[in-house]
Amino acid sequence: MTKLLPTSTAGSLPKPGWIAEPEKLWSPWKLEGAELAEGKQDALRVTLAEQQLAGIDIVSDGEQTRQHFVTTFIEHLDGVDFEKRETVRIRNRYDASVPTVVGAVSRETPVFVEDAKFLRSLTDGPIKWALPGPMTMIDTLYDAHYRSREKLAWEFAKILNQEARELEAAGVDIIQFDEPAFNVFFEEVNDWGIATLERAVEGLKCETAVHICYGYGIKANTDWKKTLGSEWRQYEETFPKLQASNIDMVSLECQNSHVPMELIELLRGKKVMVGAIDVATDTIETPEEVAATLRKALRFVDADKLYPCTNCGMTPLARSVARGKLEALSAGAAIVRQELSAA
Ligand SMILES: [Zn+2]
Repeated sequence: MTKLLPTSTAGSLPKPGWIAEPEKLWSPWKLEGAELAEGKQDALRVTLAEQQLAGIDIVSDGEQTRQHFVTTFIEHLDGVDFEKRETVRIRNRYDASVPTVVGAVSRETPVFVEDAKFLRSLTDGPIKWALPGPMTMIDTLYDAHYRSREKLAWEFAKILNQEARELEAAGVDIIQFDEPAFNVFFEEVNDWGIATLERAVEGLKCETAVHICYGYGIKANTDWKKTLGSEWRQYEETFPKLQASNIDMVSLECQNSHVPMELIELLRGKKVMVGAIDVATDTIETPEEVAATLRKALRFVDADKLYPCTNCGMTPLARSVARGKLEALSAGAAIVRQELSAA
């Protein structure tokens, strides 16, 4: 992008109330069949318009066609039985009933490619598409087949690469992999997490990103955050390895978090999507607050590599709150952009 400080969101945005119950994570669909298919496209049009009206530079589908950022992708794969469920601990944090891997996993048909083509047809601007990362995918399943987290991650990486290549061909400019699990399983990140992520982006010519955060503003996550102390140094484990990887961009959480800003220095040379919007509160940031966060980040990332962003997805927020936060993000970025051009 030639524009300085291009804004974007980390991923999901609220869905209209006519397609799914609002202000609820993983809310089930209210429509079905052909009505649902049409409703998803309409929701995508709405979320795109809201981003454009708010002045967001790199737009997305706001994950309007997915119920869950991980399982909606897995539902489309072979080898996973959604009827056969086991309770597992997600990211060492909370128990959930999850589907079982019962055989070799494969992707028989594209998952999001038609949705991406639809978004591409609606705008000439840069678009970003989010996919779950291999490690976060395996952490959301019970594996009765491979019985090895690493083996299953490599299989998912291959599948993600197939999907990513088709998203690129559909005109997606940035493909982002969501890896909140990178903030939890440091040994695995080191052993095979980064390697499987690099497998997922193999051969791509579009830009690639990884999003690592402290999760949605749900209770299990806010409780976990309270145990992390006054300084969150989780990124310190992974950033040096990401800096040495062939991933182009890193999306991270900054606003209202206890992440020391200087950890961004560990990514020097990479593009950094700086989370300047807190998704765990209904309080809308002022443009000046956003600008202050971006100014702090600028001490550790070159201006041409700073991408103002949200901390995480905003799907559980009220639509008016999300709109206000998008506008604040744009206005805050505009303040700093002007300062940089005046300097
Ligand atoms: Zn996130």
